[in-house]
Amino acid sequence: MSGDRLLDDMFKVLVEVLRKEIRAIYLKKDLRYPDKYRRALDGLLIEDDAAIYLNKPKHGSEHPLILSSLIHELLHRALGRSSEWEIRSLEKSLFDRRTGFTNEQKRYFAKYIPKHTVKYGPNLDMKGSK
Ligand SMILES: [Zn+2]
Repeated sequence: MSGDRLLDDMFKVLVEVLRKEIRAIYLKKDLRYPDKYRRALDGLLIEDDAAIYLNKPKHGSEHPLILSSLIHELLHRALGRSSEWEIRSLEKSLFDRRTGFTNEQKRYFAKYIPKHTVKYGPNLDMKGSK
């Protein structure tokens, strides 16, 4: 725990979402939004499927970007009505050296990042992606 009440509550909420709501987390090489525009993504939450897809960074899955992408998608799930902009600013503050998660808290989330990539998905049959 960080000793900061709001931050520790945030940690607990995201851990709950991760453990009780998210069904699967997939690591993908070159993750893209599954429509005709195929724009590159760092992460994607498929709301109806309770699945998170994470892009494998070119420099390997130890890269800090992947952890912030996981937190970003968990925030979408936890705070369903928040805008993309609100989620991004929250994500930023949770990774700020002064206001953000402790290394121990970050390591907790990092354990959930898959080691191996998958070939299939995401697909557009699943609605409500963010
Ligand atoms: Zn987002």
